[in-house]
Amino acid sequence: MQDAEQIVTRIAPSPTGFMHIGTARTALFNWLYARGRGGKFLLRIEDTDRERSTPEATDAILRGMRWLGLDWDDEAVSQFARADRHVEVANTLLERGAAYKCFATQEEIAAFREEARSAGRSTNFRSPWRDASPDTHPDAPYVVRIKAPRDGETVIEDAVQGTVRWKNADLDDMVLLRSDSTPTYMLAVVVDDHDMGVTHVIRGDDHLANAARQSLIYHAMDWPLPVYAHIPLILGPDGKKLSKRHGATGVEEYQKMGYPAAGMRNYLARLGWSHGDDEFFTDAQAREWFDLDGINKAAARFDFKKLQNLSGQHVAAAEDSALLTELRAYLAAIQEPDLTEAQADGVLRAMPFLKERAKTFGELVDKAHFVLTTRPIVPDAKSEKNLDSVSRGILTELTPHLQNASWSRDGLEEAVNGFAETKGLKLGKIAQPLRAALAGRTATPSVFDMMLVIGREETLGRINDAAGQSG
Ligand code: GLU
Repeated sequence: MQDAEQIVTRIAPSPTGFMHIGTARTALFNWLYARGRGGKFLLRIEDTDRERSTPEATDAILRGMRWLGLDWDDEAVSQFARADRHVEVANTLLERGAAYKCFATQEEIAAFREEARSAGRSTNFRSPWRDASPDTHPDAPYVVRIKAPRDGETVIEDAVQGTVRWKNADLDDMVLLRSDSTPTYMLAVVVDDHDMGVTHVIRGDDHLANAARQSLIYHAMDWPLPVYAHIPLILGPDGKKLSKRHGATGVEEYQKMGYPAAGMRNYLARLGWSHGDDEFFTDAQAREWFDLDGINKAAARFDFKKLQNLSGQHVAAAEDSALLTELRAYLAAIQEPDLTEAQADGVLRAMPFLKERAKTFGELVDKAHFVLTTRPIVPDAKSEKNLDSVSRGILTELTPHLQNASWSRDGLEEAVNGFAETKGLKLGKIAQPLRAALAGRTATPSVFDMMLVIGREETLGRINDAAGQSG
């Protein structure tokens, strides 16, 4: 693909201290769109609000992006660092007569609005300086305003919302440079998107009206307009704007809840975008399928059940060693100690069956308990009940059968089932004490799976510990 045609998307978060799930979804859509088309996906930190834009707040965004696996091209751009360039463009607009210096004071603007209100007119400020000759300019502070058209319409062809029209009479001469010469958000976004070569602006539909106003700057600079795609907000399950009330809104909270990044990507992709009836898909499929046409016009509702479900499918489908790596990152995120090498080794060997039944890393850790603990296994209160004297007797009697068994699934099944048959015992009568002995829990993976993973010596050791207990 030639550079001139290359698709360039971006995510442009303002650092707020955490990465909102809506920002993550917007980032994902931009990432999928670019990655599926050999394009570039850029990151710009909109850090012009100096109070909120702390290094920690920026880090929270970078961490969220990295956890979700949304890699960006080139260096992340700081909007604040580009202020000189924004001023330069404002000056160009002044030179072109597309912008003007406005010396109106706050009091004058307030008085204008008050008068307009009482006369029932639009309160959009109409500056007396719009057409004033520079000779009349006082030596006083001023802002730079765009000279917005007053007649006709501004039309945005939005890839999601369709054709959206604004009466120019409703658009005001927005400020581009404040009186301290700092650029406004409206100016900075346009200049940055243009300079970064952004071809497609996919963002929340709370920015739709901004697109109309921003397009005025593009036109005044003779810059090509990007393709706009304004995506609907994410709602909570009750149809109200997603908020803390509904549960977690920050991306990192989902990491701490143990969702795998692939499951999260799949879920977020489905949140407001669809490809036929496909629910579960891989990254490669999402990249191939993702298109602006598939973005829904109606707001999507967050569905925790669906997230769980997709998460479980991604855990099951993932490669064992990749899951182990992600599990360790999860433990670090929840500030739990890392696995020892022995534990990691055990988890890896158990992974083929652990992953079949875990929807999250928390569940995986829980099911892996038997390889994470060491002798002596301390049974929890429930499983202790399965180690009464009768059960301990059963374990003692089972021991020689296991000592002689071949350590394979067939061999172990044969030994345990054969023992059950000769004793006239139901398998549960043996399995429950075994679970207690091997894991100290009542809900565990299958006893055969556990024995295979920990091996003969450890199995017999744990059984011996449990069988020998008095009580
Ligand atoms: N910084 C804006 C925000 O966080 C996004 C601006 C844009 O995408 O154009 O909402």
